[in-house]
Amino acid sequence: MKHTKVKDLLNSTKPVDDVLIKGWVRTFRSNRFLAINDGSVIHNIQCVIDFENTSEETLKRLTTGAAVAIQGNLVESSGSGQQFEIQVTNLEILGDSDAEKYPMQPKKHTLEFLRENAHLRVRTNLFGAVMRVRSVLSFAVHHYFQDRGFAYVNTPIITGSDAEGAGEIFQVTSLPLNNIPKTEEGDVDYKQDFFGKETNLTVSGQLEAETFAMALGQVYTFGPTFRAENSNTSRHLAEFWMIEPEVAFNDLDANMDLAEDFIKYVIRYVLENCPEDLTFLNQRLKQEESQKKAADRSPMTLLEKLRFVLENNFKRVSYTEAIDILKNSKPNRNKKFNYIIEEWGADLQSEHERYLVEKHFKSPVILFDYPADIKAFYMRLNDDGKTVRAMDILFPGIGEIVGGSQREERLDVLQQKIKELDIDEKELWWYLDTRRYGSAPHSGFGLGFERLVQFVTGMSNIRDVIPFPRTPQNAEF
Ligand code: ATP
Ligand code: MG
Ligand code: MG
Ligand code: MG
Repeated sequence: MKHTKVKDLLNSTKPVDDVLIKGWVRTFRSNRFLAINDGSVIHNIQCVIDFENTSEETLKRLTTGAAVAIQGNLVESSGSGQQFEIQVTNLEILGDSDAEKYPMQPKKHTLEFLRENAHLRVRTNLFGAVMRVRSVLSFAVHHYFQDRGFAYVNTPIITGSDAEGAGEIFQVTSLPLNNIPKTEEGDVDYKQDFFGKETNLTVSGQLEAETFAMALGQVYTFGPTFRAENSNTSRHLAEFWMIEPEVAFNDLDANMDLAEDFIKYVIRYVLENCPEDLTFLNQRLKQEESQKKAADRSPMTLLEKLRFVLENNFKRVSYTEAIDILKNSKPNRNKKFNYIIEEWGADLQSEHERYLVEKHFKSPVILFDYPADIKAFYMRLNDDGKTVRAMDILFPGIGEIVGGSQREERLDVLQQKIKELDIDEKELWWYLDTRRYGSAPHSGFGLGFERLVQFVTGMSNIRDVIPFPRTPQNAEF
């Protein structure tokens, strides 16, 4: 007999005779009421046991975490709290769970404790909800692009390029760790690493995606990227997933339109497809907010924030305007936004970004036309010779969620920039070919998938929206 998903049973409109479910015990009370979760939905299904006809031995083994198969009849529940429950006719314990040792007891655990148990935390309501939402969001990403004729490109994980030029790269080695060649000075000879070639884990698939866009027109990547971020923030991981569309013949304005439309689409998609999980996450955040001091409380609930994003245009502001706003602001009156106001040309700190988004505009913001000197080499230089056609999308509570640009399509301008930055042009011969043969304007962006999941789920730490977070202290499993 095939088992039925708890989600389907809870959505049933009428009683059903003889159903079989398989799942795990969440709680067992009064030797009668079993709460079973099978992961298909956040809610448990109540199963009522005929304890007089159940052996003492079986009752004892119904501990939190045990895997069970339950047969019975789905009937209207007389108790409050659920419409249906299962009257158990047959119960089989598939796997015991030691009540003394099982770490995921039904009580409130700290997020730190749960991080140490990343392999078990998905068994909690909170992480079950976050991970289901994450999964639906990734489906929505593919849905959006595939529906619009974009081709999905799998760009390489092992690569010779550092697209961002930030130097935050992980070297790759094919050699036994005890036999890495040394230079004459005794340092590790990285040049030998990948079968005689220097390579690293990708920091972005953009450069490779550009070459595909210049043939397939519209492409996107969605894969893991790696950055040796030796810092501990709530928004950085050493391994994160990035969504990178790249479109031939699109300028920066079209790029902004695409990013805004895309973000709204995926948020609408989860609102429609994850109502139970989002309701739970919304409640959780409400509770968390209610414990804060009134001044620190967010004026909107999670669901209100998501709807706000859907219903309002992102504010489009040039970097130069943003600097003026920051200079004329009085953020120092508010301790939270205590920072030094920068001069034109400086990169914005997250405090600046948060001020613009959360205090000044009270809306997602697209900042564009940044100083060339603080952005990567491939961005399209404006006619002023000082700024580039870059954009960052800033979100409340998150900061930068997207970094994108129109790409420099002019070979000579690009070569000049490469020279100025002391990058070895020979290493980019293949990239420059896109400018040599049939070059055309094109643009794209990178959206950090975990930051999107953070925004949608309201989780404040990025470590809590990826199954197994990689951070400087965390790579055990
Ligand atoms: P930040 O300023 O936050 O360090 P960045 O400007 O270095 O980000 P980009 O190179 O623009 O990042 O990458 C594109 C997007 O990837 C960012 O907008 C962000 O959403 C995401 N991202 C970048 N670095 C990380 C990271 N270490 N962990 C998670 N997401 C990241
Ligand atoms: Mg960075
Ligand atoms: Mg940045
Ligand atoms: Mg960026």
